[in-house]
This record gives sequence, C-alpha cells and structure tokens, in this order.
Amino acid sequence: MKRLVLASSNPGKLREFEALLAPLGIEVVPQSRLGVPEAEEPHLTFLENALAKARNASRHARLPALADDSGICAAALGGEPGVHSARFAGGPRSDERNNARLVELLADKADRRAHYYCVIVLVRHADDPEPLIAEGRWHGEVADTPRGSGGFGYDPYFQVPELGLRAAELDPPTKNALSHRGKALRGLLALLREEG
Ligand code: IMP
Repeated sequence: MKRLVLASSNPGKLREFEALLAPLGIEVVPQSRLGVPEAEEPHLTFLENALAKARNASRHARLPALADDSGICAAALGGEPGVHSARFAGGPRSDERNNARLVELLADKADRRAHYYCVIVLVRHADDPEPLIAEGRWHGEVADTPRGSGGFGYDPYFQVPELGLRAAELDPPTKNALSHRGKALRGLLALLREEG
C-alpha cells in the first residue's frame, strides 16, 4: 500500500480522498497525525495556496502529498471572495457572517453570477517540479435568501440554475456529480490512472 499525506485535517475531505484513492491501493494519512504544522496561505491564486500546503506537508512528512484549495468567485465583485472565501467576513471562520457579507455586497448588483472553484494538487516529493494538478468549476448564482440544510459554507445561497435549487438542497451524490470538488476529484483520478 502506498501512503500519501493529506495537507488538511478536515474529516470530510479525508473521507472523500480515502474513498477515491483506496481502490488504487493508496492510503491517505491526515497531516495532523504526522505532526505537520499548518502552512501559510498568503497567495493570490488557489493553485499557489494548494501547492504551498502540499509542499509543506510533503517536506515535513517525507511522503508524497495531496492538497486542495477552493472558494466562491462572484462576477460582480471581480472574483471575490475567491481565495478569501473561508474568512471573508474576517475574524474566526463563520459561514453565517461570510454569507451575510456576500449578500450585502451583492445587494445592489444586477449580475448575480458566481462560480465555485476547486484545485487539487499532488506532489511526489516536496520539490516536485511536475505536480499533478486537477481543477473544477461549478457555475451558478448567489440568491438573496437561504434555502436548504445540506452542504456547508455558501451552499444555502448558491442557486443552481439548471435545477432551480440551492446547492444546500441537493443530496450528496447529486452535489458531487455537479460540484467543483467532484470534477477536480475525478480529474485527479484520471491523472493518477495515466501515471499508473
Ligand atoms: P478551503 O478550500 O478549505 O480553504 O475552504 C474554502 C472556503 O470556500 C470554505 O470555507 C467555504 O466557505 C468555501 N467553499 C468551498 N467549497 C464549497 C462548497 O462546496 N460549498 C460551500 N462553500 C464552499
């Protein structure tokens, strides 16, 4: 069994990556279990932040490493919250305050288009010059009022136009089939299969 360190301690992400990689004979170990300190995420792009997290985990754990970075980008806000999605309202992470800020900033905007973005990177070693990179986008709109109780983050306000539903109203398999993260995960799997 090959081992990979996951540059995240989020149990939801760990489960998703475990399920994807177990059939390939790859064991995923969260970085917290290996004493890896959290990396800074100071960059302007999701990709650079994901790479910083993966290289940090690989360097400390001396294993190949996986990291992802994601967020929501509103067209009328020039792509914000973007890489600032998790702490958009400042202070400790709060989905409620993040959503309130997003809805307030869009209140007078006619253009409600937004997309979720996710990038996943895999480095074979800390200085890998050729990381595997998979990305996914999910296009929708930001609504004024919340609906649904599934998902997390901005999902109660993320309207999926083709279904007429919020992301928070979708069951997990439906969200996974459409979402930025689902697309990126399937892309990573295809890259790993190509690598053998
Ligand atoms: P990170 O990728 O763990 O740094 O999280 C980025 C932030 O983007 C999360 O805290 C959420 O606010 C937001 N986000 C990313 N993906 C989703 C999603 O699928 N639904 C809702 N919010 C998301």
